[in-house]
Amino acid sequence: MTGTMRAVIKTAPQEGCIELRTVPIPQIGPREILVRVKAAAVCGTDVHIRHWNAWAQKRMNPPVTIGHEFSGEVVEIGSDCHTVKVGDRVSSESHIPCNNCQVCHEGNRHVCPNTKCIGVHQDGCFAEYIAIPEEIAFVYNDPNLPWEILALMEPFGVSVHGVMDVPLATKSVAIIGAGPLGEMGILVAKKAGAAKVIVLEPNAQRAATAKALGADAIIDPIAQDPVVAIRALTDGYGPHVAIDFSGSSAGIASAMQYLRPEGQLTCVALPNKPVAVDIADFGYRGCKLRGIAGRRMYENWEEMRGLLAAGIDLSPIVTHTLPLEEFQQGLDLTEQGKCCKCILIP
Ligand SMILES: [Zn+2]
Ligand SMILES: [Zn+2]
Repeated sequence: MTGTMRAVIKTAPQEGCIELRTVPIPQIGPREILVRVKAAAVCGTDVHIRHWNAWAQKRMNPPVTIGHEFSGEVVEIGSDCHTVKVGDRVSSESHIPCNNCQVCHEGNRHVCPNTKCIGVHQDGCFAEYIAIPEEIAFVYNDPNLPWEILALMEPFGVSVHGVMDVPLATKSVAIIGAGPLGEMGILVAKKAGAAKVIVLEPNAQRAATAKALGADAIIDPIAQDPVVAIRALTDGYGPHVAIDFSGSSAGIASAMQYLRPEGQLTCVALPNKPVAVDIADFGYRGCKLRGIAGRRMYENWEEMRGLLAAGIDLSPIVTHTLPLEEFQQGLDLTEQGKCCKCILIP
């Protein structure tokens, strides 16, 4: 397709420097598809890119169109594409693995050391069109699923990866942090059959949302000692699984104390500094520590398909919808924690 489009671009390697510009519509290769973006979601990563933090400096080479969470309609396919057709409704994996290294060959493409990310290493989705490899498209042709919800599949997949890592049916689960991923995690844990979902969240508004989403108990870890409070809710033993969506050092350290013997602490969020923990106590109780990165390709995507088919309702996660032109406000709301997920409509 030829012509021009509007795109939100990180224009220079420094603080700020994010602008709406008119650029050519991307051209596709034989194994790529062109997607007309219908909805794009703002992520904390986009805020890091705005502030040009160390993470962004290491990976980006502006000018680059930002944004990596989206849904859209396929408008063109390359000559060597076979699984996606024009007119399909798609969301997308944001990681493009190399498929050729030992880690990929071992079935762990989600942690491929050569991964390229859309909206970081190459042009992303805060634009009218995006070109992506066919292999990362997630086709979901249900017209009853709103574009805004289909745009959440990438972050939803991280939450699914973290929550579905161990079987939760009949178990007690602590969800640390009720931001967007934690809120999705509550929904997934309930669908997965957890007997008791306990949420640790100091923000009153987020705690109320967590309750509305089905959390069985809420603990304010600042007002209460979380170790005492959570043991009181789990017959004194602690939860079988604790999943950290907060990146809070204190939240992680207390989870290592209150976790049930042989329990698992799953770290989805990444703390920005080292956490001091008592490994001896943790190890003596036989507990496990698990890191979560990205989405397993494509097991988590199929689990998402199943969760959607089972009627999981992600609509409470979308709290703001703005036209693409108001991307700065979307970044502000996300940075200030004033929204759950903010959607941009190109
Ligand atoms: Zn993201
Ligand atoms: Zn690889």
